[in-house]
Parts: sequence; C-alpha cells; structure tokens
Amino acid sequence: MALIVHKYGGTSMGSPERIRNVAKRVAKWARAGHQMVVVPSAMSGETNRLLGLAKEVSPAQVTDAVQRELDMLASTGEQVSVGLLSLALQAEGMEAVSYAGWQVPIHTNSAYTKARIESIDDKKVRADLAAGKVVVITGFQGVDEGGNITTLGRGGSDTSAVAVAAAMKAAECLIYTDVDGVYTTDPRVVPEARRLHTVSFEEMLEMASMGSKVLQIRSVEFAGKYKVPMRVLSSFTPWDIAIEEEAKSGTLITFEEDEQMEQAIVSGIAFNRDEAKISVLGVPDKPGIAYSILGAVGAANIEVDMIIQNVSKDGRTDFSFTVNRNDHARAMDLLKTQVLPALGANSVEGDAKICKVSIVGIGMRSHVGIASKMFGALSAEGINIQMISTSEIKTSVVIDEKYMELAVRALHKAFDLDQAAA
Ligand code: ASP
Ligand code: MG
Repeated sequence: MALIVHKYGGTSMGSPERIRNVAKRVAKWARAGHQMVVVPSAMSGETNRLLGLAKEVSPAQVTDAVQRELDMLASTGEQVSVGLLSLALQAEGMEAVSYAGWQVPIHTNSAYTKARIESIDDKKVRADLAAGKVVVITGFQGVDEGGNITTLGRGGSDTSAVAVAAAMKAAECLIYTDVDGVYTTDPRVVPEARRLHTVSFEEMLEMASMGSKVLQIRSVEFAGKYKVPMRVLSSFTPWDIAIEEEAKSGTLITFEEDEQMEQAIVSGIAFNRDEAKISVLGVPDKPGIAYSILGAVGAANIEVDMIIQNVSKDGRTDFSFTVNRNDHARAMDLLKTQVLPALGANSVEGDAKICKVSIVGIGMRSHVGIASKMFGALSAEGINIQMISTSEIKTSVVIDEKYMELAVRALHKAFDLDQAAA
C-alpha cells in the first residue's frame, strides 16, 4: 500500500461523464489498497471563460487590487471540479472529501496570478487518509499570509499536484492528461515522433522551458528539488485496465542516469516561436557596451535569452540578442529612444520572424561532436543559422521561422529519434 497522488487535467475533467470515469479510475486504485490524493484542474475551457468574464467587467487588469480579484474568480473553476469529483467518488461507494487550497491549507506568497507555494500543512489530509477517505484537493491555488486566495499561474495544477506529493512524500505523482506521455518532439510536426519511456528531470526541464506544453515548468522544478517520482500518462485508457499495466504506461521522469534510462544521446527536439531578435548595429566597441544595452533592457524587466557579439571592424561591432516576442516592440522602442543615442550606435534592427530549435539530451554531457552534427543536418537542408547557444545538455539555434518544421524533421531524423531506443 502506498500514498499516491493523481492529477487530472482539464480535458480529463471535461464533462460529467469524464468525471465519472476519473472517479472509477481513482476508486480502482483506492480499492487496490492505496491511499489516494487527487488534484484536478478546472473543467476544460472554464478558466478561460472566467477570465473572459473578468475582461468584460474590467478592462484594466494590472493592479494588485485587480489581480487579487482575478485569483478569487479563477480559483472557482477548480472548486467546481473538486466538488463534482468528490460527489462522483461517493457515488462509486468511496468515502471522499474535497478541499480548496485555502482549506488544506496550501500556503503561498502574495504574488497574485503567479504565486509560489511556500508550505503545505498536511495534517488534515493525513487524518482523512488514515480514516480511509479519498482526498480531493483543488489544483492551481493556495492562500497567502493575509488569508487571500492566490493562483499559481496558468497550468498551475501540475505544480499543485507535485507540491502535495512532495509535502506528503508520496510514492508517485501521476499526471493524467490528454496525451499519453512525453514525445521526442511534437507528433503533429513529425509523425514518427516516439513516446519516451523515461526522460531525465533535467531534460524535461529544458523541454518544458522550450515550448513542450505537457507540464508546467514550475512543476518540473518542484519535482527536481524534492525528487518527486513523477509520471505523465493518458487519462483516455479504459479506466479498468490493470493497475500494473497503468503504472508502467506513459513517461516516467527520472533523477538518476541509471541503466534503465534510454541511452540516446539526444532525447528530444524542442522548438518555439516565442522569441524575437534585436540587433544593435555599429556599436563603438569599448568596455561596457553589453552592460549599457542589456542593463537598460533588464531594468525594463525584459528577459534576454540568446546573446551574440561579433568581432569588431574599425572600432565598431554588432550586438544581437533575443527577447520574448511579447516584449519585442517595447525593447525596440527603448533601444531607439534611450540606448542608441547614449551609445552612439548606428541603428537597431528587429526581426520577429525567427524561431528557436533545440536538441536536448543528457548524453550530450559525455559525447563530443553533437552540436556539429546538428549544424551539419541544418546545412544539408540549406537552413541558415543566425544564432547559437549551448548548455551542458542542449544546443539551440535561431533560424528563420519559415524553416522551423523542416529543421525539426531533419534533426529528428539525423539523431535517429524515429528509431526505437536499443
Ligand atoms: N485551470 C488552470 C488553467 O487553466 C490551471 C490548470 O489547468 O492547471 O490554467
Ligand atoms: Mg495543464
């Protein structure tokens, strides 16, 4: 008998019928002798619907006072879910009790709409489990010091589930979703993409930060910090499949490079169109230019990702970097009006039609020549690389966005990702 946390996403909770299915699945696990804590998301579309209503009554959404009310509102989606799921569990003959985040309580800081979990008091939940109850806890939310309801950011139910699993030292946190695991890349781009049986937590972190929407990145960070065993699996398998089979399905996120891991050097190809490029041209090449440019950008709360400075010619150089596409216009404006005149640079150019494509794999730590193989595969397709950045376990390039799918397919093939791992 083990303590298990199940998390169900919005699609899995999308209708009364699906909720009854979730209840049947959870009841099956409970009847097998496990202590069950279940963390559901709001029914699909519900959080968007609620936030849409907010826009209709209040156009301004930036002040702290407004964001407090947005959290009050958005948190209700999950409250509906836990009530319905508890009722469905009871109808299955289980003893079940639901709690909103503030009732547990799940303590967070006061950063409305993007709060961070600080601690979880598990006394009540443990007592319920000991009394043989299934405990259903709202995802996505908590309560701050002042008793205000907070939410954790979109997709935050993943983080709630992992945090509960960490606090309660659960044997495993199962994330049930509408895909059947983590893939080598998006199967809509590469039909040959394969499901990974395991992926290391570090690889998952890189993939989550680069556009794989399977898990909220903060949940992966949490799992890594507390070493929470975590599995991503489908909620669309028949609810009555054998637990032994279900417990092996999907993708397991691992923490050790043990022999069970698939030994591919590159595990996945990630890509996104979230960034835009900015080039400051003809910058006088002297100490402090990176600081003058990026310092001003940072001071405006704009995050910078990739950076390139060219060799200088005749005392002048070009300096390029990428920012989130949402910040592109603001960053360009800042550079033109403030930085350019102060620096005495020639001009600034922007390009939003770029994309970032990355290869990710912990095997890159111990193998050389992986990046050059990537560049070779792209050049064979005639794709020009505009920027490069590397870390221990990934290499990313910026290319013209019109070649994104071609690049992803070429790299998937070049690294044999369509072949089953040995
Ligand atoms: N319901 C919230 C959202 O739609 C949280 C979640 O689903 O994880 O973002
Ligand atoms: Mg989600």
